[in-house]
Amino acid sequence: MSHRAYNFNAGPGPIPEQVLQQAQKEMFNFQHAGAAVMELSHRSSLYESIHFAALKQIREILSVPDSFDILFLQGGATLQFSMTAKNFLPEGKKAGFVLSGSWSEKAMKEASFFGEVTEIASTKSNEYRSIPEVNLREQDTDCAYIHLTSNNTIYGTQWKTLPEKGTKPVIIDMSSDILSRPVNWEHIDLAYAGAQKNAGMAGVTIVIARRSFLESAEGNVPPSLSYKQHADKDSLYHTPPTGAVYITKLVTDWIQDLGGIKAVEERAEKKASMLYETIDQSEGYYTGHAEKSARSLMNVTFRLPSEELEEKFLQEAKEAGFMGLNGHRSVGGCRASIYNAVPVEHVEALCRFMKQFQHTN
Ligand code: PMP
Repeated sequence: MSHRAYNFNAGPGPIPEQVLQQAQKEMFNFQHAGAAVMELSHRSSLYESIHFAALKQIREILSVPDSFDILFLQGGATLQFSMTAKNFLPEGKKAGFVLSGSWSEKAMKEASFFGEVTEIASTKSNEYRSIPEVNLREQDTDCAYIHLTSNNTIYGTQWKTLPEKGTKPVIIDMSSDILSRPVNWEHIDLAYAGAQKNAGMAGVTIVIARRSFLESAEGNVPPSLSYKQHADKDSLYHTPPTGAVYITKLVTDWIQDLGGIKAVEERAEKKASMLYETIDQSEGYYTGHAEKSARSLMNVTFRLPSEELEEKFLQEAKEAGFMGLNGHRSVGGCRASIYNAVPVEHVEALCRFMKQFQHTN
């Protein structure tokens, strides 16, 4: 392929072209250092300037209060499933999970290795087409914390607004919608996300946590798994994924250039509504998996009238330069992931392709 694909991958996904071009320009000799960023010591002032600028810009973009720490960790969102439990699930208490898809199930399973877990709401019985209705103000007093997933990458559903918290701390997996909309931190104690969808490349995991919550952690946590340890050392307790942090820094520059989080959110709404309109106006040819009220602005999941047509659709889409339109292997069907870096024009091209395919098939 001589040009860049229309990239609708679910993650890792596309990175803004401006970011790739900047990284390419700086790859051999970053700011006259005579080396690439990923060849610099993580203790050098040049690397530190990138590291702290990335942290600062995430704080600005998401209006993260001063009472929260922002961390750059490794191990993906998956390690956070365990790390949250290791830090915050004491003996005799339970971790409460709101199940809205496979990733919430995985989070609950990992946590069960550290202590007792309990399901407090689930939409599994309707194939995760909707978001559970749950009132966190009325939850089991045994729960040490409550965990939920803000956007369900596989099923294509999303909390329109996150629930108000009650007395229990709230932990949120924001892997597939971080940096796509403003966040009300009042109702969150810890949020985490791998960078590889909206915030850069795989390798760095962003954690945003209330400092008082981090300080309430269990005492028997090894330093490498202790949020407090990483926070105390400004995420430089050990070698951070320097190249990935650098890309995240460039992504935050790009978000600022776009006009900040409100502009990003408007763009996401525009792209999603183009695709959902194409589905809704197809007279039943394309059917969305998610109930309308739960539709994700990040992952648009849909089916065609038959599996044969889905196969043909995916094959022809591939030939036309579209990448990553297959649904997750566990559910099949089609999925267009329209993270921040997907240009509006690529979504327009996909809508045209879908209409044309319907017309001829
Ligand atoms: N949670 C959600 C909602 C996800 O979409 C993913 C990855 N697709 C994960 C967790 C796992 O993330 P990682 O691969 O970074 O461990």
